[in-house]
Amino acid sequence: MIELKLYNSRTRNREIFTPIDPDHVRMYVCGPTVYDRAHVGNARPVIVFDILHRVLRFLAPVNGWGKVTYARNITDIDDKINARASETGRSIHDITEETTAWYLEDMGALGELGPDFTPRATEFIPEMILFINELIERGHAYEAERHVLFDVTSYPQYGLLSRRSLDAMIAGARVEVAPYKRDPMDFVLWKPSTDDLPGWSSPWGRGRPGWHIECSAMTRALFGESFDIHGGGADLMFPHHENEIAQSCCLSGRNSFARIWIHNEMLRVEGQKMAKSLRNFFTIRDLLDRGIPGEVIRFVFLGTHHSKPMDWTETRVREAESTLKKWRTICDDAEDAGEVSPTVVQALANDLNTPAALAALHDVAGRRNGSELKASAGLLGLLGDDMGDWNRPEPLARQYASMIDGLVQERKSARLRKDFAAADRLRDRLHAAGVELMDSAEGTVWQCGPNFDPERLRSPK
Ligand code: AMP
Ligand code: ZN
Repeated sequence: MIELKLYNSRTRNREIFTPIDPDHVRMYVCGPTVYDRAHVGNARPVIVFDILHRVLRFLAPVNGWGKVTYARNITDIDDKINARASETGRSIHDITEETTAWYLEDMGALGELGPDFTPRATEFIPEMILFINELIERGHAYEAERHVLFDVTSYPQYGLLSRRSLDAMIAGARVEVAPYKRDPMDFVLWKPSTDDLPGWSSPWGRGRPGWHIECSAMTRALFGESFDIHGGGADLMFPHHENEIAQSCCLSGRNSFARIWIHNEMLRVEGQKMAKSLRNFFTIRDLLDRGIPGEVIRFVFLGTHHSKPMDWTETRVREAESTLKKWRTICDDAEDAGEVSPTVVQALANDLNTPAALAALHDVAGRRNGSELKASAGLLGLLGDDMGDWNRPEPLARQYASMIDGLVQERKSARLRKDFAAADRLRDRLHAAGVELMDSAEGTVWQCGPNFDPERLRSPK
């Protein structure tokens, strides 16, 4: 028996994990809204919960648990998707299909095992309608002007997860005020669709679901009233997860739903969350296209515990790359896969302490024990034979990486000596060559845009 300790955001305690049903460990994670490429921040929950998935699978036979099921949804109904369709003149179906395929491909490149179920919102409309109907019957939701709203005052525990009082939530959240709401905090379960928007027929007319209901309906359909672990980014704790709990607990009439909640902290740029809406993002595809192997991206994420915010830095990418190259050489000499290092297992079983697990891997590598290194790194999804995107032909951006690094460094020095004119000239030169810069407290991250032209990196005559 190996104890798995997990920090539960619901109870604010580190707890020993015991499955509700020892024969079936169940984990659900909120997945992407599919209208654009996944940015680097979006990959953080993917890697964090992939590690947990791997650890659960590893521990299941040791601890006498049965099968492990991991589900992560795809939100393919959303106003951002509708907006993207009307901006581009493309069909919603084309956009969601293409983006879902991109997502699976990009996350696959990071070496995730992948969930057992990837339910899409559009596949669960009947379940959502039934769910909403039952909430109305039980007095937790009401219909108003072709909308259905959840009555937040009918659930006194609302706010317990994020520890906010109703008043604080009203003050803190940008709550949509609408004349048909009884209370400003009430949230939409169903809303009407005009003819140009996707819609399904329902007891409340043609319309579409609000966002929160899909996760409640899907977990109920896949796992029943309660299950073991619910995950997602910390940005989802309020209101999304709070709303999931309210819906599901009011439906079952029991205080059950997810037993353990795990939230990953945010990837930041200049101290702010990386987000599409803030336009401070770059995508996983950008990094892969720069020739950075998916395994290196994974390694960078594992260097910070999931409960801490992190920045993306070029230095970390370089360090990860050189470590993995070294480790791969050590493994090349290994006979066959050995035993997983108990220190690595202990680190992961201690609230998924991935930085400690990497430190333990460094020790194994120091002893040049290739077979133990390969087996142990495998538990973290590293050094796999299928992650060999190391030998791809070098993309243009990579060939010029050290030249770009040099210019970025020169610009930094110019700024430090307060020669802002020189610093601006260097920035303009990089921009003219199609290199985009993002500054943060920990340094500058760069990426080559689609118009990258290395000729223009050279000093103007
Ligand atoms: P979205 O497609 O925006 O709904 O996000 C998909 C997942 O990515 C959710 O679990 C979010 O919490 C997570 N996420 C979004 N931005 C970040 C970020 N900057 N850092 C870490 N996780 C994020
Ligand atoms: Zn969700």
